[in-house]
Amino acid sequence: MADSFAVKQFMAVEQPHRAVIIGGGYIGLEMADALTVRGLAVTLLEFAPEVLTTLDPELGAHIRAELTSRGVQVATGKAVAGIGRQQQKLCVQTAAEERWAADLVLVAAGARPASALARTAGIPLGDGGAIRVKRTMATTVADIFAAGDCAETWHRLLNRNTYMPLGTTAHKQGRVAGENMVGGQREFQGSLGTQVVKVFDRIAARTGLRDRGAAAAGFDPLTVALTAWDHKVYYPGAEGIHLRLTGDRSTGRLLGAQIVGHRRSEISKRIDIFAAALHQGLRVEEMCDLDLSYTPPLSSPWDPVQLAAMQWCARQSGT
Ligand SMILES: Cc1cc2nc3c(=O)[nH]c(=O)nc-3n(C[C@H](O)[C@H](O)[C@H](O)COP(=O)(O)OP(=O)(O)OC[C@H]3O[C@@H](n4cnc5c(N)ncnc54)[C@H](O)[C@@H]3O)c2cc1C
Repeated sequence: MADSFAVKQFMAVEQPHRAVIIGGGYIGLEMADALTVRGLAVTLLEFAPEVLTTLDPELGAHIRAELTSRGVQVATGKAVAGIGRQQQKLCVQTAAEERWAADLVLVAAGARPASALARTAGIPLGDGGAIRVKRTMATTVADIFAAGDCAETWHRLLNRNTYMPLGTTAHKQGRVAGENMVGGQREFQGSLGTQVVKVFDRIAARTGLRDRGAAAAGFDPLTVALTAWDHKVYYPGAEGIHLRLTGDRSTGRLLGAQIVGHRRSEISKRIDIFAAALHQGLRVEEMCDLDLSYTPPLSSPWDPVQLAAMQWCARQSGT
């Protein structure tokens, strides 16, 4: 919060015209949207070949298209090496000596746990330097609990602790920790890394594992991609939704999903259908039987979520 107030204060006093954002993750993308709406010329620099690396690049490309259509200059494959000053301007520089002038530079290049207090108190740290916790949110030191961005997160599919700082997780972990601190017996039920972000009029969402992560965890992943209408095409305003669904070939179990679409296309609630199915350990085939709601302005008798599941089943069985 302090950082966001500082940015607002700086903008009110300095009236910047040109911003460079370092990092094309969800915070960098949200800020590209916000600063463009505030009238700044925005350049987004990203180290990876595509923005939003928490999604497959095929879907990240749709977000890049949205950014560029709104006037954001997107430069990927750029490793920022330093920020200097040139006359009155800031100057962002890459290792390859490319330069971008700016009145405002925003670094949104990932999060690290603020676990120094725990470390100096002798509490063991785990994944990514986050405080090591059990599923009760107890640390390995008696009577000390940790929750939220400073702590590890138990991943429900990987069946191990990871570092995945999210507000939804922080709230649930905090509740578990609080209950257990007053004598409760609750366990954190795990995260699936379910996330959603708005970038101008596009929404990008994901849950669970993608191909590479699933393979590394010992699954046998198969991913299908499709584009489907968000509602019946004869009803005005239909938009395409891009989906990618990953399942385990050998067990048929759902492993993860990613969706990009228009912000009127109920993307966040559609990813939540996948998240609920993942939480319950459903097989992809079982998703086709879910009794989902339908009315022509909002969906189809077979929702895009179920069309993706059907396509996956057809590919798995080779039909
Ligand atoms: C720009 C941005 C956008 C985000 N958007 C989303 C989103 O859309 N969805 C989502 O799920 N998550 C989002 N997140 C992540 C989410 O905000 C965090 O996961 C969540 O706030 C973590 O809660 P927390 O209580 O662990 O930490 P925080 O919310 O960071 O709260 C920790 C508090 O502890 C204080 N503190 C730290 N050290 C000490 C100390 N030694 N003594 C006393 N106080 C201390 C801090 O000042 C702070 O007030 C976003 C994060 C950012 C930065």
